[in-house]
Amino acid sequence: MSDTPIYTLGIDIGSTTSKCVILKDGAEIAAQALEVAGIGTSGAQETIGKVLTAAGLSQEQISASVVTGYGRKNFGGDAVSVSELSCHAMGAHWVFPEVRTIIDIGGQDAKVISLNESGMMESFVMNDKCAAGTGRFLDVMANILKLDISELEVKAAAAQSPVSISSTCTVFAESEVISQLSGGAAIPDVVAGICNSVASRVCGLARRVGIREQVCMSGGVALNNGVRGAIARDLGVEIRYDPRAQLFGAIGAALHAYKRYTKNNTANHE
Ligand code: ADP
Repeated sequence: MSDTPIYTLGIDIGSTTSKCVILKDGAEIAAQALEVAGIGTSGAQETIGKVLTAAGLSQEQISASVVTGYGRKNFGGDAVSVSELSCHAMGAHWVFPEVRTIIDIGGQDAKVISLNESGMMESFVMNDKCAAGTGRFLDVMANILKLDISELEVKAAAAQSPVSISSTCTVFAESEVISQLSGGAAIPDVVAGICNSVASRVCGLARRVGIREQVCMSGGVALNNGVRGAIARDLGVEIRYDPRAQLFGAIGAALHAYKRYTKNNTANHE
Protein backbone atom coordinates (compact mmCIF):
# COMPACT_ATOMS: atom_id res chain seq x y z
CA MET A 1 0.00 0.00 0.00
CA SER A 2 1.23 3.53 -0.72
CA ASP A 3 1.60 5.98 2.17
CA THR A 4 -0.51 8.61 0.41
CA PRO A 5 -3.70 9.06 2.44
CA ILE A 6 -7.02 8.25 0.81
CA TYR A 7 -9.51 11.08 1.23
CA THR A 8 -13.20 10.40 0.64
CA LEU A 9 -16.06 12.89 0.64
CA GLY A 10 -19.58 12.34 2.03
CA ILE A 11 -22.27 14.82 0.96
CA ASP A 12 -25.68 14.85 2.68
CA ILE A 13 -28.17 17.20 1.01
CA GLY A 14 -31.12 17.48 3.37
CA SER A 15 -34.44 19.30 3.22
CA THR A 16 -33.06 22.20 5.29
CA THR A 17 -29.29 21.73 5.61
CA SER A 18 -26.33 20.50 3.54
CA LYS A 19 -23.63 18.59 5.39
CA CYS A 20 -20.19 17.40 4.19
CA VAL A 21 -17.48 15.28 5.78
CA ILE A 22 -14.02 14.35 4.44
CA LEU A 23 -12.56 11.17 5.90
CA LYS A 24 -8.87 10.31 5.87
CA ASP A 25 -8.29 6.61 5.20
CA GLY A 26 -11.86 5.85 6.34
CA ALA A 27 -10.62 6.27 9.88
CA GLU A 28 -10.62 9.91 10.93
CA ILE A 29 -12.55 13.06 10.11
CA ALA A 30 -10.22 15.41 8.21
CA ALA A 31 -12.86 18.16 7.93
CA GLN A 32 -16.59 18.79 8.24
CA ALA A 33 -18.89 21.59 7.07
CA LEU A 34 -22.56 22.49 7.24
CA GLU A 35 -24.74 25.15 5.61
CA VAL A 36 -28.35 25.82 6.55
CA ALA A 37 -29.42 25.55 2.90
CA GLY A 38 -30.71 22.24 1.58
CA ILE A 39 -32.32 20.81 -1.52
CA GLY A 40 -33.03 23.26 -4.32
CA THR A 41 -30.35 25.75 -3.20
CA SER A 42 -26.64 26.21 -3.84
CA GLY A 43 -26.04 24.93 -0.27
CA ALA A 44 -24.49 21.63 -1.35
CA GLN A 45 -21.88 23.27 -3.63
CA GLU A 46 -21.05 25.86 -0.97
CA THR A 47 -20.65 23.17 1.68
CA ILE A 48 -18.36 21.14 -0.60
CA GLY A 49 -16.24 24.27 -1.15
CA LYS A 50 -16.11 24.89 2.61
CA VAL A 51 -15.14 21.34 3.54
CA LEU A 52 -12.37 21.21 0.91
CA THR A 53 -10.97 24.52 2.20
CA ALA A 54 -11.18 23.32 5.81
CA ALA A 55 -9.25 20.15 4.88
CA GLY A 56 -6.73 22.09 2.73
CA LEU A 57 -7.53 19.80 -0.22
CA SER A 58 -8.57 20.25 -3.85
CA GLN A 59 -11.36 18.28 -5.51
CA GLU A 60 -8.68 16.29 -7.42
CA GLN A 61 -7.29 14.96 -4.13
CA ILE A 62 -10.63 13.32 -3.28
CA SER A 63 -10.49 9.65 -4.28
CA ALA A 64 -14.25 8.98 -4.16
CA SER A 65 -17.49 10.76 -3.22
CA VAL A 66 -20.92 9.54 -2.14
CA VAL A 67 -24.03 11.74 -2.00
CA THR A 68 -27.03 11.02 0.20
CA GLY A 69 -30.07 12.82 1.58
CA TYR A 70 -33.29 14.09 0.13
CA GLY A 71 -31.46 16.08 -2.56
CA ARG A 72 -29.17 13.29 -3.72
CA LYS A 73 -31.12 12.47 -6.89
CA ASN A 74 -30.85 16.04 -8.22
CA PHE A 75 -27.13 16.28 -7.55
CA GLY A 76 -25.02 16.37 -10.71
CA GLY A 77 -21.37 15.40 -10.64
CA ASP A 78 -19.71 12.03 -10.30
CA ALA A 79 -20.69 11.20 -6.70
CA VAL A 80 -22.41 7.81 -6.28
CA SER A 81 -25.88 8.07 -4.68
CA VAL A 82 -26.62 5.98 -1.54
CA SER A 83 -29.82 5.99 0.56
CA GLU A 84 -30.04 8.04 3.76
CA LEU A 85 -31.01 4.95 5.76
CA SER A 86 -27.84 3.14 4.77
CA CYS A 87 -25.63 6.21 5.36
CA HIS A 88 -27.13 7.01 8.79
CA ALA A 89 -26.74 3.36 9.80
CA MET A 90 -23.09 3.32 8.72
CA GLY A 91 -22.28 6.71 10.27
CA ALA A 92 -23.96 5.95 13.60
CA HIS A 93 -22.29 2.52 13.79
CA TRP A 94 -18.88 4.13 13.13
CA VAL A 95 -19.38 6.56 16.03
CA PHE A 96 -21.21 4.14 18.37
CA PRO A 97 -20.42 0.49 17.47
CA GLU A 98 -22.72 -0.80 20.25
CA VAL A 99 -25.81 1.00 18.95
CA ARG A 100 -28.69 -1.19 17.73
CA THR A 101 -31.41 1.47 17.37
CA ILE A 102 -31.02 4.88 15.71
CA ILE A 103 -33.64 7.58 16.10
CA ASP A 104 -33.03 10.00 13.22
CA ILE A 105 -35.02 13.23 13.24
CA GLY A 106 -34.30 15.61 10.39
CA GLY A 107 -35.94 18.70 8.95
CA GLN A 108 -38.88 16.96 7.36
CA ASP A 109 -38.98 13.33 8.41
CA ALA A 110 -38.23 10.98 11.27
CA LYS A 111 -36.90 7.43 10.99
CA VAL A 112 -36.16 4.70 13.48
CA ILE A 113 -33.57 2.23 12.23
CA SER A 114 -32.74 -1.14 13.75
CA LEU A 115 -29.17 -2.42 13.23
CA ASN A 116 -27.41 -5.74 13.68
CA GLU A 117 -24.05 -6.00 15.43
CA SER A 118 -22.19 -5.38 12.13
CA GLY A 119 -24.02 -2.08 11.68
CA MET A 120 -26.20 -3.39 8.84
CA MET A 121 -29.79 -2.14 8.78
CA GLU A 122 -32.31 -4.85 9.70
CA SER A 123 -35.53 -2.85 9.63
CA PHE A 124 -36.86 0.69 9.86
CA VAL A 125 -40.01 2.76 10.22
CA MET A 126 -40.44 6.25 8.87
CA ASN A 127 -42.74 9.25 9.19
CA ASP A 128 -42.42 11.43 6.11
CA LYS A 129 -46.08 12.30 5.78
CA CYS A 130 -46.61 14.69 8.66
CA ALA A 131 -44.52 17.58 10.05
CA ALA A 132 -45.38 16.68 13.66
CA GLY A 133 -42.50 14.72 15.13
CA THR A 134 -39.93 16.32 12.81
CA GLY A 135 -37.58 19.32 12.84
CA ARG A 136 -40.18 21.22 10.82
CA PHE A 137 -42.49 21.22 13.84
CA LEU A 138 -39.72 22.72 16.01
CA ASP A 139 -38.79 25.27 13.31
CA VAL A 140 -42.42 26.47 13.09
CA MET A 141 -42.73 26.72 16.88
CA ALA A 142 -39.35 28.49 17.28
CA ASN A 143 -40.57 31.00 14.72
CA ILE A 144 -43.79 31.71 16.67
CA LEU A 145 -41.77 32.14 19.86
CA LYS A 146 -39.18 34.34 18.08
CA LEU A 147 -36.42 32.02 19.30
CA ASP A 148 -33.45 30.59 17.46
CA ILE A 149 -33.75 26.82 17.00
CA SER A 150 -30.67 26.34 19.21
CA GLU A 151 -32.34 28.22 22.11
CA LEU A 152 -35.18 25.72 22.50
CA GLU A 153 -33.18 23.32 24.66
CA VAL A 154 -32.10 26.13 26.99
CA LYS A 155 -35.71 27.24 27.48
CA ALA A 156 -36.95 23.67 27.90
CA ALA A 157 -34.39 23.08 30.67
CA ALA A 158 -35.93 25.96 32.68
CA ALA A 159 -39.49 24.53 32.55
CA GLN A 160 -41.34 24.17 35.87
CA SER A 161 -44.54 22.62 34.58
CA PRO A 162 -44.51 21.69 30.87
CA VAL A 163 -47.79 22.37 29.08
CA SER A 164 -49.49 19.57 27.22
CA ILE A 165 -49.83 20.00 23.45
CA SER A 166 -52.68 17.73 22.48
CA SER A 167 -52.97 18.45 18.73
CA THR A 168 -51.24 15.95 16.53
CA CYS A 169 -51.33 18.33 13.56
CA THR A 170 -48.68 21.09 13.29
CA VAL A 171 -51.22 23.68 12.14
CA PHE A 172 -53.54 23.02 15.10
CA ALA A 173 -50.59 22.74 17.50
CA GLU A 174 -49.49 26.20 16.33
CA SER A 175 -52.88 27.66 17.40
CA GLU A 176 -52.63 25.72 20.65
CA VAL A 177 -49.22 27.23 21.41
CA ILE A 178 -50.50 30.73 20.64
CA SER A 179 -53.49 30.27 22.96
CA GLN A 180 -51.23 28.83 25.71
CA LEU A 181 -49.05 31.94 25.45
CA SER A 182 -52.01 34.32 25.47
CA GLY A 183 -53.38 32.41 28.48
CA GLY A 184 -50.18 33.30 30.37
CA ALA A 185 -48.18 30.05 30.14
CA ALA A 186 -44.45 30.62 30.70
CA ILE A 187 -42.27 30.27 27.59
CA PRO A 188 -40.07 27.52 29.11
CA ASP A 189 -43.19 25.47 29.94
CA VAL A 190 -44.48 25.91 26.38
CA VAL A 191 -41.11 24.97 24.87
CA ALA A 192 -40.86 21.85 27.05
CA GLY A 193 -44.39 20.92 25.91
CA ILE A 194 -43.28 21.33 22.28
CA CYS A 195 -40.20 19.11 22.83
CA ASN A 196 -42.35 16.49 24.60
CA SER A 197 -44.80 16.52 21.70
CA VAL A 198 -42.04 15.75 19.14
CA ALA A 199 -40.66 13.05 21.44
CA SER A 200 -44.01 11.36 21.92
CA ARG A 201 -44.61 11.13 18.15
CA VAL A 202 -41.18 9.66 17.54
CA CYS A 203 -41.44 7.22 20.46
CA GLY A 204 -44.64 5.88 18.87
CA LEU A 205 -42.61 5.13 15.72
CA ALA A 206 -39.77 3.64 17.78
CA ARG A 207 -42.09 1.22 19.55
CA ARG A 208 -43.28 -0.04 16.16
CA VAL A 209 -39.76 -1.04 15.14
CA GLY A 210 -38.87 -2.30 18.65
CA ILE A 211 -36.22 -0.76 20.88
CA ARG A 212 -32.95 -2.59 21.29
CA GLU A 213 -30.21 -0.94 23.31
CA GLN A 214 -27.98 0.90 22.86
CA VAL A 215 -30.01 3.72 21.37
CA CYS A 216 -28.61 6.87 19.75
CA MET A 217 -30.02 9.85 17.91
CA SER A 218 -28.94 11.27 14.57
CA GLY A 219 -30.10 14.28 12.54
CA GLY A 220 -30.31 17.93 13.52
CA VAL A 221 -33.00 17.51 16.17
CA ALA A 222 -30.55 15.36 18.16
CA LEU A 223 -28.85 18.65 19.07
CA ASN A 224 -31.89 19.57 21.20
CA ASN A 225 -31.44 18.13 24.67
CA GLY A 226 -35.09 18.91 25.46
CA VAL A 227 -36.15 16.35 22.82
CA ARG A 228 -33.37 13.88 23.73
CA GLY A 229 -34.36 13.97 27.41
CA ALA A 230 -38.06 13.56 26.62
CA ILE A 231 -37.34 10.53 24.38
CA ALA A 232 -35.12 8.95 27.05
CA ARG A 233 -37.86 9.37 29.68
CA ASP A 234 -40.62 8.15 27.37
CA LEU A 235 -38.72 5.01 26.24
CA GLY A 236 -36.96 4.43 29.56
CA VAL A 237 -33.54 4.07 27.90
CA GLU A 238 -30.33 6.07 27.78
CA ILE A 239 -29.86 7.98 24.53
CA ARG A 240 -26.25 8.01 23.33
CA TYR A 241 -25.36 11.42 21.98
CA ASP A 242 -22.47 12.82 19.98
CA PRO A 243 -22.32 16.50 18.96
CA ARG A 244 -21.68 15.34 15.36
CA ALA A 245 -25.15 13.70 15.26
CA GLN A 246 -26.33 15.97 12.43
CA LEU A 247 -23.32 14.76 10.39
CA PHE A 248 -23.92 11.00 10.78
CA GLY A 249 -25.42 10.75 7.27
CA ALA A 250 -22.42 12.57 5.75
CA ILE A 251 -19.98 10.44 7.79
CA GLY A 252 -21.75 7.29 6.54
CA ALA A 253 -21.58 8.60 2.96
CA ALA A 254 -17.81 9.21 3.26
CA LEU A 255 -17.40 5.68 4.69
CA HIS A 256 -19.41 4.21 1.79
CA ALA A 257 -17.11 6.12 -0.59
CA TYR A 258 -14.04 4.73 1.18
CA LYS A 259 -15.36 1.14 1.04
CA ARG A 260 -16.21 1.41 -2.65
CA TYR A 261 -12.83 2.95 -3.45
CA THR A 262 -10.80 0.34 -1.57
CA LYS A 263 -12.91 -2.53 -2.98
CA ASN A 264 -12.46 -1.33 -6.58
CA ASN A 265 -8.76 -0.73 -6.11
CA THR A 266 -8.15 -4.11 -4.50
CA ALA A 267 -10.07 -5.78 -7.35
CA ASN A 268 -7.98 -3.86 -9.93
CA HIS A 269 -4.75 -5.10 -8.40
CA GLU A 270 -5.76 -8.78 -8.30
P1 ADP B 1 -32.31 17.67 6.85
O1 ADP B 1 -31.24 16.63 6.51
O2 ADP B 1 -33.68 17.26 6.46
O3 ADP B 1 -31.95 19.05 6.37
P2 ADP B 1 -31.17 17.74 9.52
O4 ADP B 1 -30.89 16.38 10.03
O5 ADP B 1 -30.02 18.54 9.02
O6 ADP B 1 -32.34 17.70 8.44
O7 ADP B 1 -31.91 18.52 10.70
C1 ADP B 1 -32.49 19.80 10.50
C2 ADP B 1 -33.32 20.15 11.71
O8 ADP B 1 -32.49 20.14 12.87
C3 ADP B 1 -33.91 21.55 11.64
O9 ADP B 1 -35.20 21.49 11.05
C4 ADP B 1 -33.94 21.99 13.09
O10 ADP B 1 -35.24 21.75 13.64
C5 ADP B 1 -32.95 21.09 13.81
N1 ADP B 1 -31.76 21.81 14.28
C6 ADP B 1 -30.77 22.29 13.52
N2 ADP B 1 -29.83 22.91 14.29
C7 ADP B 1 -30.22 22.78 15.57
C8 ADP B 1 -29.68 23.20 16.83
N3 ADP B 1 -28.53 23.86 16.93
N4 ADP B 1 -30.39 22.89 17.94
C9 ADP B 1 -31.54 22.21 17.85
N5 ADP B 1 -32.10 21.80 16.69
C10 ADP B 1 -31.46 22.08 15.56
